[in-house]
Amino acid sequence: MKDTYRHKGLRRKLVEEVKSKGIRDDGVLAALEAVPRHFFLDSSFVEIAYQDKPFPIGSGQTISQPYTVAFQSELLLVEKGLKVLEVGTGSGYQACILEEMGARVYSIERHHTLFIKTKKLLNEMNYKAKLFYGDGYKGLPAFAPFDRILITAAAPVVPADLVNQLKIGGMLVLPLGAGDTQVMTRIIKHNDDNLEKQEFGYFRFVPMLKKKAP
Ligand code: SAH
Repeated sequence: MKDTYRHKGLRRKLVEEVKSKGIRDDGVLAALEAVPRHFFLDSSFVEIAYQDKPFPIGSGQTISQPYTVAFQSELLLVEKGLKVLEVGTGSGYQACILEEMGARVYSIERHHTLFIKTKKLLNEMNYKAKLFYGDGYKGLPAFAPFDRILITAAAPVVPADLVNQLKIGGMLVLPLGAGDTQVMTRIIKHNDDNLEKQEFGYFRFVPMLKKKAP
């Protein structure tokens, strides 16, 4: 696949659109401009990749809407060199955005088929994010603690193992709720028994499911 001037032009327009919807973080906007989103969709219609919409990526999953990716990335307050765990690799797009923002990215996916497909793609694109096949509810204890954790599927509860795998002063961003819509939530771990919870409005994600899938 190629990344042409036309794609770059479409991407600049997308960045303007996301900016007009309220995203201000320069690191986030630069990352959106850098990552060729059309590489992550099977569709041959590149325009679709640069509309501010979610899109099916196979295995019944979706690549999140660019605005949602930007919103979560902004809330995560990523700084260069931070160790970030993403739960729900999906297409890998969000992982690449975090990497462009300077994070050292670890990402877990429960769907084996999707995991294999995305691992190949990120490798071809020269991204260094470390991808794992597993159940995100359990996190990655062998690689903990993390500065930041981002969940990109709707979590019915705050997963306790993930809070345990956060550094003191670290943050967890997740769409929280068991219903059709979830509340975008940021948990700041001031210390082991002092968690601050902040809320940022309603979003709609595919559910975070238990256990691995083929
Ligand atoms: N971040 C993705 C979008 C994710 S959609 C992107 O940028 O494309 C949500 C993803 O979470 C799906 O791929 C789904 O299979 C995965 N998922 C759901 N429950 C999970 C769990 N318990 N552990 C890991 N991944 C999970």
